[in-house]
Order: sequence, then structure tokens, then C-alpha cells
Amino acid sequence: MNSKSFWGWSSTEALREGGESGGFVTSFLESIVGKYDNILAVRKTGTVFEGAVMSIDSKEDAIKTQGALHAVCMELSHYIKKGERTAIVLKPCDARAVIENMKRNHVERENVLLIGLNCGGTLPPVDTMRFIDNYFELAPEDIVKEEIAKGKIIFKTTSGKEFWKTIDEIEEEGFGRRENCRYCDVKIPSMCDIACGNWGTPAGKNITFVEVFTENGNNALEQAVREGFINVGEPSEKMIAVRSKINGIMKKMAGGWNKRIIGRLRNMPNEERLAYIKNVLSPCIACYACRKACPVCKCGDDCKCMQMDPDDSLPISIFHSIRLLHLTESCIGCGNCSDVCPVDIPLAHLHQLFARNYEKKTGYKPGMSIEDIPPLSRGDLPEGY
Ligand code: SF4
Ligand code: SF4
Ligand code: SF4
Repeated sequence: MNSKSFWGWSSTEALREGGESGGFVTSFLESIVGKYDNILAVRKTGTVFEGAVMSIDSKEDAIKTQGALHAVCMELSHYIKKGERTAIVLKPCDARAVIENMKRNHVERENVLLIGLNCGGTLPPVDTMRFIDNYFELAPEDIVKEEIAKGKIIFKTTSGKEFWKTIDEIEEEGFGRRENCRYCDVKIPSMCDIACGNWGTPAGKNITFVEVFTENGNNALEQAVREGFINVGEPSEKMIAVRSKINGIMKKMAGGWNKRIIGRLRNMPNEERLAYIKNVLSPCIACYACRKACPVCKCGDDCKCMQMDPDDSLPISIFHSIRLLHLTESCIGCGNCSDVCPVDIPLAHLHQLFARNYEKKTGYKPGMSIEDIPPLSRGDLPEGY
């Protein structure tokens, strides 16, 4: 179906006031309680910066997920089980991982309702707590809301004040979004059944802009309206244009970071690039945490890639060589591998170097559509690849 756009909000006044952007997602979740084997979303754990996955079994559980839009949480696709009807609220990178897993027959498309959230990036909790202390003298508990909008990172406090700096300023100073989020160029999750966010909504309106991409998403939305959980209206041309403009700005910023981080590596002479990769991988202690955290790597523990001999003389271990090659057509740039590495190896940008080069040459971008078959599986690689 062609996508359809709405603006929506919770029919419950308290949720409209207390939730993100009019409490649409919270009340949408309430509306599907009991209709799926498993409903998954993130809830805040302590501060607004930290989150954990929660299984929603009741309307009360749905309400506990309010306001967790930006809470950082490890990737969600691990929680979807084959054969279970699952509804899940997730960011574009998580949704892309689910799509890749569907292609590999680990999850069935017809069993899953993907409720996507627009995403300008997520903030690493510890660095961000240090940042708000250094620059605003605020404690994590003082923050009730964090938002990435209009080129700024904005923190709202318990006393109702707003503190902000531009994303550029913060990131030049070594804080800000996770590195992979800076060059991530999929901000609206169009691979989902519905995509929700506040981009395009007028200030002070307290509503969510919702784009519906599939019949499944449309049916769920219509049912939620019929049962009185949410209200929807038609967005104006202006709202649609503003949302598209914000998406364009975020993608342009991502393009700049892509040039700075990935492009710099791509443009190195081959020998220099190999030396760089070898050098950054050298502190690896073979804990395999990166492989376990990777949402698109489904090898078992007996996989041949699980070999790392500290005494071998290879410039890059078998483990990392296999992963770099395997993930060339499936790395969705979620950054989990970098996040979990105990010796801080910037793995995501190494994998993205290969994946984006592959994308440039073949036009294939993983996780965007279940219909897109990877060129290698199609036997359709460009000449000389
Ligand atoms: S990689 Fe970062 S910016 Fe991109 S969808 Fe994931 S959390 Fe959001
Ligand atoms: S290699 Fe890293 S960035 Fe790529 S999908 Fe796996 S965990 Fe995410
Ligand atoms: S998480 Fe880091 S240290 Fe552990 S295997 Fe991966 S690269 Fe090596």
C-alpha cells in the first residue's frame, strides 16, 4: 500500500499530558494488549538515559513505558522469537535488524507488528551524565526529558527549565550522540508497519506524526481508534513538509559525519587502511562480546569464526576477517559491537566501512525491505567485486 500520514494522540488526558508527543504510542500499546503473544517496548530504568526491554502484559505495563523514547537500550531484535506473534516498539536500526532476520528466516514477517520511532540518535548514558554535569551542573535525576530536535540536544529539568546546546557544539567537544548514530542515515523507519515521532508537529500541540506503511499497521491503527484508545487527524501539507525537511537536515548531517569517519578510511591508500584496521583491532582480547551483541549475526558458538589464536601471524585474526566479510551485506550500523567492546575498539565504523562500500557499489542497503535480496544471494555482484 502507499503510505498514509496522520497525526494522533492518546484519548486519555493524563497520558496525553504525561507521555511523549501526546502519548500516542503508549495508548496504541494499550490497544493491542492481549492481541499478541508478546508486546515489547523499552521502559526507563532510573534516569531518562537508561532503559531496559519490557514485556507488556497489561494496560498498566504499557503506561510504564511512557517517556522512554530516547532511553538507551541494547538491541531489541534478540527478543523476538520465531513462531510468536510479537508487537515491538523500536528504532530504525533495530527495525532494520529485524528485517534482516526475517530475510534469513529467523522471524516471520506476518507474525510481527513493527512500531517504529523516528530517531535522530541515542546518547551514551555515562558520557551524557558527565556532559550535563560539566556544562550545566545538572545531575541525571534532575532531567525529566531529553530531546534531539532542530539541530539541538535539549534537556528539560524537574523544575521545568530547558538547557540546550547545538548537536555540532556538543559533538565537537567529544560528547553527544553515539558515533554510529552520527553517520546513521535512516532516521524514519519506513521498513516498519507504522513510524511515529514529533517531527513536523507544531510546537505545543502535544501530538505524534504517524506514517502508516502496511495493511497490518493500518488495521491496528483503525482498531485502536475504533476502540477509543487514540484519536487521529489528517496532517496539513505544512506538517508533512516540515517533517520531510527535518528528516532531510538529519540525513545531511549524517552525510557529513559519514564523510568524516567512513570516508576518511575509504580514501586512505590500501596499505594505510590495512595498517589502520590492524592497529585498531590489536587490543582485542577475544571475548566475542561483539559477536553476541550483533543483531544480524546468528552464528552459534561452534561457528568457525570463533577462532582467535593469540600466537597466529595473521595481520587480522580469522574471527575479525570472517565478521568483516560476513557483515558486509548485513551490518545495519547499530553500534552495539562498539558499545560492548571492553577495550573500546570502534568496531561499528570498521563494519560500516565495508557495508557502505558494498552499498555504494551494489546499491544494496540492508534492513530496508524484506523484498530486497542481497546481491551475493542473488548471484548478482558487479563485475570485479
Ligand atoms: S543507529 Fe543511532 S541514529 Fe540510527 S536508528 Fe539506531 S539509535 Fe537511531
Ligand atoms: S557489526 Fe556492529 S554495527 Fe554492524 S550490525 Fe553488528 S553490532 Fe551492529
Ligand atoms: S568485543 Fe572487543 S575485545 Fe571482545 S572479541 Fe570483540 S573486538 Fe575483541
